Amino acid sequence: MTKPTVLISGASIAGPATACWLVRAGFAVTIVEQAVGLRSGGNGVDIRAEALAVIERMGLSAKVCERAVETCGLRFVDTEDRERARVGTAGLEAMVGSEDVEILRGDLCELLYDATRDDVQYVFGDSIASIMQDSDGVDVTFKSGKQQRFDLIIGADGLHSAVRRIAFGPEAEFTQFRHHYFAAVSADLPVGEHHWTTFCNEPGRSAAVYRAEPGHGQLTFMFYSAQPLTYHYRDLAAQRRLVREAFTRMDWHVPAMLNALDDAETFYFDSLTQVRMESWAKGRVVLVGDAAYCASPASGAGALLALTGAYRLAGELAAGGIAPTALERYAAAQRPIVKLKQSQLFTGITVPRTRIGIAARDLFLASPLTGVLSRWKSDRSKPLHEYTFPDAALYPRHDQR
Ligand SMILES: Cc1cc2nc3c(=O)[nH]c(=O)nc-3n(C[C@H](O)[C@H](O)[C@H](O)COP(=O)(O)OP(=O)(O)OC[C@H]3O[C@@H](n4cnc5c(N)ncnc54)[C@H](O)[C@@H]3O)c2cc1C
Repeated sequence: MTKPTVLISGASIAGPATACWLVRAGFAVTIVEQAVGLRSGGNGVDIRAEALAVIERMGLSAKVCERAVETCGLRFVDTEDRERARVGTAGLEAMVGSEDVEILRGDLCELLYDATRDDVQYVFGDSIASIMQDSDGVDVTFKSGKQQRFDLIIGADGLHSAVRRIAFGPEAEFTQFRHHYFAAVSADLPVGEHHWTTFCNEPGRSAAVYRAEPGHGQLTFMFYSAQPLTYHYRDLAAQRRLVREAFTRMDWHVPAMLNALDDAETFYFDSLTQVRMESWAKGRVVLVGDAAYCASPASGAGALLALTGAYRLAGELAAGGIAPTALERYAAAQRPIVKLKQSQLFTGITVPRTRIGIAARDLFLASPLTGVLSRWKSDRSKPLHEYTFPDAALYPRHDQR
C-alpha cells in the first residue's frame, strides 16, 4: 500500500519534530526549507513540562541533556554593575511550574534533523510558491519551478509563514505586535558570573549577557517600541542598525555588546509578535509551531508549543488519518496551552518600562515571598496524552538505535 504523502515547510523545531512522529504514523514525509542548510543561531530555548515528555518519547532526552546549556539563573544589575536581585534555577522552575532544560535553538534543531534525516526527504534552498488543493490532494509549485502533488501540507515555517500567507491570507490578519523587539547574538563577553544571565535595564530597554565557558556566550537585547519598525526581514545590516539606535547612550557593558553585535556571525532579530488564528487548518493544509501560534520569545514557550503541537498533530493524524476531524482534534488538544502561554509574557520582568517598574521588579525578585507567590501562580505540568503510532516498531526510539 502506498504511504500518504506529507510536505512540511520549515526545518527548525516544529517541522522536524512533526516529521519524526509522522514517519511513525506511516506517512512519507518531505521537508522543504528555504535556507540552504539548517539555520544555526538563536539563544537558549526552554524545554519544559509536556515538551520534556515529547523529547523523552522520541528517545532524545540523553542527547538533549548532553547539549543542555548549564544555567545557574538570572541576575539583575544596575548600570554601575551593582547587583539588585538574583533568581536561581530552582526559583525560575518554581515560577514556570516545571523542570526546565535549556538548549541552544541551533543545537535542538540539529538534534531533530539528525533524528529524522534517514527517514525524511529534506530539500534545502527551496520553498513553496503556490498551493492548489482539491478534495483528493494538493498540487504544489515550488520557487525552483518543480511541481509535485501531496496528500497534506504542513506549515512549520515560523512567524512569517509562507504557507499561512498562501493558504489563509496576509500575515497582518493573524498577527499582533506586542510592542517590543528582540535580538540574540552569540558572543563571549567577560560580563557577570559564569553560567548566569546578567540583565541590565533602563526604562523600555534590556541588555543581557549569558556567560559560558571561554569562546561561548549569548547576548540578548530587548526594547520597547510603541509602533512597528520598518525594515526588510532579510536586511541584517538594517536590523543591527535598529538595535544600535535603540541602545544609544546606554552604559554598563552595552557599548562592548554593540561592538560584538556587529562582529557576530549568528544574529537573530524579530519583533515580539503573536500569531492568533481561529483555525489552524484549511482543507488539506495545516499549521504547527510559530506559524500557527507564535507566542513570541518573551513567552519562553516557543519550543514547548512547537514540540507539543508537533506531537499532537502527528498523533491525531495517526489516529484519524488525513481528515478534518483529526485536524479539529489536534486544535482542541493544543489550544489550552497556546492560550495560556500567549497570555504569560515575561516583558514585565525583563523589560520594565519605567524606573519605578525596574525598582519594583528588583524588590519583588529579591523578596523571599517570590518563590511562594510564583508557586501559587504558576501552571503545573499536565500529563501529555499518549498517542499510538502504528509504524513505531519500524522506527525505534533514538536511544534504542
Ligand atoms: C535562526 C532563528 C533563531 C531564533 N532564535 C530565537 C531565540 O533566540 N529565542 C527565541 O525564543 N526564539 C528564537 N527563534 C524562534 C524559535 O525557534 C521558535 O519560537 C520556536 O522554536 C518554534 O519553532 P518553529 O519551528 O515553529 O519556527 P522557527 O524556529 O521560526 O522556524 C521556521 C523555519 O522555517 C523556515 N522558513 C521560513 N520561511 C520559509 C519558507 N517560505 N519556506 C521554507 N522554509 C521557511 C525558517 O528558515 C526556519 O528554519 C529563532 C528562530 C530562528 C529561525
